[in-house]
Amino acid sequence: MSLIIQKFGGTSVATPEARKSVRHKIEEAVKRGDTVVVTVSAMGRNGAPYATDTLLGLADNDSDPIMKSNMDLLMSCGEIISAVTLAEELKKDGYETTVLTGGQAGIITNDNFGDARIIDFRPENMKKYISEGKLVIVTGFQGMTEDGRVTTLGRGGSDTSASALGVALDADMVEIYTDVEGIMTADPRVVPNADILDFVTYDEACNLASQGAKVIHPRAVELAKTKGIPLRVASTFSDARGTIIKESDENMREQLITGIASLSGIVQLCVKNEERDQERLSSLLTDIADAGISLDFINIHPSEAVFTVKDEDCEKAVEIIEKNGFKYSLTKDCCKVSEVGANIQGVPGVMAKIMTALTKEGIEVLQTSDSYTTIWCLIHERDKDKAVRTLHDFFKGENNESGF
Ligand code: ADP
Ligand code: MG
Repeated sequence: MSLIIQKFGGTSVATPEARKSVRHKIEEAVKRGDTVVVTVSAMGRNGAPYATDTLLGLADNDSDPIMKSNMDLLMSCGEIISAVTLAEELKKDGYETTVLTGGQAGIITNDNFGDARIIDFRPENMKKYISEGKLVIVTGFQGMTEDGRVTTLGRGGSDTSASALGVALDADMVEIYTDVEGIMTADPRVVPNADILDFVTYDEACNLASQGAKVIHPRAVELAKTKGIPLRVASTFSDARGTIIKESDENMREQLITGIASLSGIVQLCVKNEERDQERLSSLLTDIADAGISLDFINIHPSEAVFTVKDEDCEKAVEIIEKNGFKYSLTKDCCKVSEVGANIQGVPGVMAKIMTALTKEGIEVLQTSDSYTTIWCLIHERDKDKAVRTLHDFFKGENNESGF
């Protein structure tokens, strides 16, 4: 008998028909003899009546922004609605259910409202209900501070809830059910012929997720990794096996590039340092860091420094650059396309292949960067989808040799 956490995303709980599929997944696991703990997102996506963004919109007021703790309390209602609705339907299926909020389930966070971090797990309450034979349903996306205030875990936070429950209960598997059949070689909305990946390592999944593959939250992967709990990403609406995320082993494929992801909302800044005054430049970088702005694609040359910031940090960064008396230029509307693969390390010519493929399609590369598992290209936003498709087709074409 295994202990399984099953998380169902927004589209999976959006309608009674979708929830039939959810109930079917739970039923299958229970029939296998597994103990199941369920966690759910709010129903539907933006625009749906009880989706997180819709709830947020209720208190939208530019002149007097909502208090952050109230915002979390408001947002947490979406998961309460879907958890209770599902619980009542499962009751009709013959289950004895208990619905718990994140806090009641023992997910304790700091008080960084809107993007709180989990600092402790106190699963005693949950364990009590499980031992009584109850089917426990936990509202995803939320936790509680030490002093009992409701917090939320940031966008995609229900995935993190699932892993947190997995860690707290020492589960055998955390299953993330969504509207696609697993982690794919690229977002299927951009690349319709993307392939499902059978296995990916924790690090690859984390890289893909943090570089824009929103199918799973990177923190969910990191958390599961701390205890070596395998994750399965699969569709609520099919019987396909999905993608298993775990440590690397000999059964994993030998592909060079595992997947491609993209992130928008980036500005490239080029700061001139004609006097080659390294001390002044260092002091500028310190000022930017002190303002809490994180830089990416950092390239320091004696006479200039090039780096990127997120859109929302651009104004502040420019203010600091001007205050320090530097000349600069900026390129707005950039995005980052990432090619992730655990086997890139030490293989010569991967960057050359990427540059060749993008150049052939007339896509301007503004900057590149690389680590031993990822190559990043900064390009114009307008080229994003084309670049993702181009690189996907290119590495797929290289197939037997080094591609997907
Ligand atoms: P849920 O509401 O179930 O959490 P999300 O919308 O957060 O679902 O994540 C699923 C979506 O992630 C898919 O519909 C898909 O468009 C997108 N996605 C982005 N990159 C990938 C990828 N590499 N593989 C699979 N899906 C991806
Ligand atoms: Mg999600």
